[in-house]
Amino acid sequence: MTETETNLYDVVVLGAGPVGENVADRTRAAGLTTAVVESELVGGECSYWACMPSKALLRPVIARADARRLPGLRQAVQGPLDTAAVLARRNWYTGDWTDDGQVDWIESIGADLYRGQGRLTGPRTVSVGDRTLTARHAVVVATGTRAALPALPGLADVRPWTSREATSAQSAPGRLVVVGGGVVATEMATAWQALGSQVTLLVRGKGLLDRMEPFAGELVAEALTEAGADVRTGTSVASVTRADGVVVVVTDSGERIEADEILFAVGRAPRTDDIGLETVGLEPGSWLAVDDSLRVDGTDWLYAVGDVNHRALLTHQGKYQARIAGAAIAARAAGTSLDQADPWSAHAATADHECVPQVVFTDPEAASVGLSLAEAEAAGHRVRAVDVDMSSVAGAGLYAEGYRGRARMIVDLEREILRGVTFVGPGVGELIHSATVAVVGQVPIARLWHAVPSYPTISEVWLRLLEAFRDN
Ligand SMILES: Cc1cc2nc3c(=O)[nH]c(=O)nc-3n(C[C@H](O)[C@H](O)[C@H](O)COP(=O)(O)OP(=O)(O)OC[C@H]3O[C@@H](n4cnc5c(N)ncnc54)[C@H](O)[C@@H]3O)c2cc1C
Repeated sequence: MTETETNLYDVVVLGAGPVGENVADRTRAAGLTTAVVESELVGGECSYWACMPSKALLRPVIARADARRLPGLRQAVQGPLDTAAVLARRNWYTGDWTDDGQVDWIESIGADLYRGQGRLTGPRTVSVGDRTLTARHAVVVATGTRAALPALPGLADVRPWTSREATSAQSAPGRLVVVGGGVVATEMATAWQALGSQVTLLVRGKGLLDRMEPFAGELVAEALTEAGADVRTGTSVASVTRADGVVVVVTDSGERIEADEILFAVGRAPRTDDIGLETVGLEPGSWLAVDDSLRVDGTDWLYAVGDVNHRALLTHQGKYQARIAGAAIAARAAGTSLDQADPWSAHAATADHECVPQVVFTDPEAASVGLSLAEAEAAGHRVRAVDVDMSSVAGAGLYAEGYRGRARMIVDLEREILRGVTFVGPGVGELIHSATVAVVGQVPIARLWHAVPSYPTISEVWLRLLEAFRDN
């Protein structure tokens, strides 16, 4: 047993995922001493079991699908993907699940890394192994999420895949059942179907991607079916067992499905069950509610940033919060008061509320920012949805023969600004930032006419949307 050591820092960050790393970057840049505590790999879920490996798996899938839509190129890409090569490139992107590069980066910004499970032991104090870290100004919880599993009897014996196995598997299972209809389920169904698995997708609701405009899920389901996946909506898992290696799923309607693996992608749970929340009067296992400076309600020293606060479970949004939290901590440490009411304040995460962008890397891609029609109406905005078939755009036709896609913008009729935009179609992921600028910037519709898209790009869909608004 080593002697307990106490270390004093301005800021202690719990969790070195993309969000914890970015908080540390900001607090260090502001001259605050910073400790970072990490229990697994520096870089977090995103680097090793989420964004990076999933997109490394999907990129060749989407590139091949795009190539197959072009006469003259189609013939050259008729064969199957080289799954081993795709997996090897994915392995490279995760550094073979080692974090040396990111540890070097933590050192380069001048933060101190502590490895181990960090736990709050009271206000401003964190234990890691035998050490106690004390924070002068702030403790930041950036511990992220883990996959949530349903309460099915005997599920542990089935050894189901979660997002971790789905993004790190070293071979394609022959038959894969995917349970869920959200982003992780649709992306992983797209990837593994193309990499050699026969995928059956079981979706409890009426369709896929139910947080987006309904046409997004419809177009993705259509494409998954064309790719050979079996998409079953309105279907729940009643029981699942594994015998002699074979997974047997029985659905709520009594159907029996056999598979080699089963992936549950049915939601996320906060990693706050074992971080000592009870020592500061908070509920272990809960999402941590925060104000717009990312400070936990009812405290003046505890911040919760990224997935763990449940505002928007996305890396880019968590990193945005990290920039805001870092600036807020530095300002408060310097004794500056924050203007939370100012919507343009660098100390308030205002974009979290109604301006969140997201790209789903399926084939076709689905990309959205801000509110869907249903969300805008529920929020009480007086809006109109404007729809355009993206095949009417010259750039879309050039991009892919028989281009299938759809765009929608949600116009706030009172303020004549956009509340939300959705694009679905090949190549639209790179288009969404134009919409993000329009939505976040609250650009007046009349001014958007003067934002001229280059010819012949898919971005000309903006002209079609504005014309459709003017003419109807
Ligand atoms: C399959 C999948 C694909 C995704 N793809 C995308 C995408 O393409 N784009 C996107 O924007 N988002 C994507 N996401 C979401 C994205 O992964 C998360 O939003 C992001 O990882 C959140 O970052 P974070 O830093 O808050 O948490 P995490 O990345 O989960 O990092 C938290 C870190 O804290 C550590 N930790 C936890 N508890 C402790 C403790 N007590 N002490 C010390 N350390 C601790 C963990 O080990 C981990 O390293 C995807 C998610 C999944 C599951």
